[in-house]
Amino acid sequence: MGALGSGLGGGVELTIANLARELQSRGHEIEIIAPMGSDLGDLSIIQIPGELQITAQTQEQAASIVMPGDPVLANMWAKARAIQHDYDIIFNTAFDWLPFYLTPFFDRPIAHFVSMGSQIAAIDLAIERVAIDFPGTIGVCTRTQAETFSFADRCCVVGGSGVDPAIYEYCDTPEDTLAWLGRISPEKALEDAVAAAERTGMKLKIMGKIQDPDYWAQIQRDYPHAPIEYLGFLPTHELQQALRSCKGMLMTPRWVEAFGNVAIEALACGVPVIAYRRGGPAEIIADGKTGFLIEPDSVDALVRAIENLDEIDRSNCRHAAETVFSQSAWGTVMENWFVGVASRQEHRLVK
Ligand code: UDP
Repeated sequence: MGALGSGLGGGVELTIANLARELQSRGHEIEIIAPMGSDLGDLSIIQIPGELQITAQTQEQAASIVMPGDPVLANMWAKARAIQHDYDIIFNTAFDWLPFYLTPFFDRPIAHFVSMGSQIAAIDLAIERVAIDFPGTIGVCTRTQAETFSFADRCCVVGGSGVDPAIYEYCDTPEDTLAWLGRISPEKALEDAVAAAERTGMKLKIMGKIQDPDYWAQIQRDYPHAPIEYLGFLPTHELQQALRSCKGMLMTPRWVEAFGNVAIEALACGVPVIAYRRGGPAEIIADGKTGFLIEPDSVDALVRAIENLDEIDRSNCRHAAETVFSQSAWGTVMENWFVGVASRQEHRLVK
């Protein structure tokens, strides 16, 4: 979808960085293969040239698989194939047809991290074939995400990410401000959060990559008087600085969000999350304890939940991020999954 660090990859960018750092701290050697221009600070990256894929979430279910003339995805997998024998396992985070199709042609086991729900029938089919032929190698973030696929029972629910609480500062004295974070793209339905801000009169800080400029321009035209402030696409340190003083964060996705990294980042700052009761956020937020799960697509319900934000004890939010959603807890889940994938593959080769 884009270079790591650009924001175009959405939550998967943070997922990759956090996981790589966690596994390195446990003594594993990691090499990241990513599109040219990628930058994850301290992490070394093999930079691969080529043209980007069309993002799956903008396509119809019946879409064909399309490759650009010089596809970066194919170039990345050529590199992975060339160096595969130096590694025990390959971890795929691309929601694309090619890595699934290529799986039987590799000697090394591949653990596939599927970070979206069903988008395109052709990709579903490619994933299902791998799920059948290589049991245990399809990882998904949440159960509700798995259920968007006809082969839900063949998926391993491994969670979507984990945060390092040391990077997010806890704030117990919020201002009368709300936050909305994410890619600015129609499936995220930012307009609902803007409508709720207009009705409550509470300022809404918006942070994230503008992936669809026409959509963003339309929201500004539709809500000219809403008390919103766009802060840009911020690096994690600045993001948590702007986020932590907010009274609540709104998550308004129209689609079945597979996970929702921004939810666990908000919790890490002690910020309660108000989310539609659908997809990943419904498995992250404890209703009434770390935020509110509300009727999907209802601005009325958003407004009511905003009015009740004082009922949430912000220390519950931070506690959830330090325990269930911490980087080290997630690292253990992923490490166990990788060991399982690698050993099943060895078993297969011996047979
Ligand atoms: N994000 C960021 N800077 C911003 C706003 C968002 O780095 O100003 C990141 C955020 O940390 C999160 C990602 O964007 O990791 C959004 O991921 P999420 O899982 O919420 O949604 P996705 O884009 O994957 O659908």
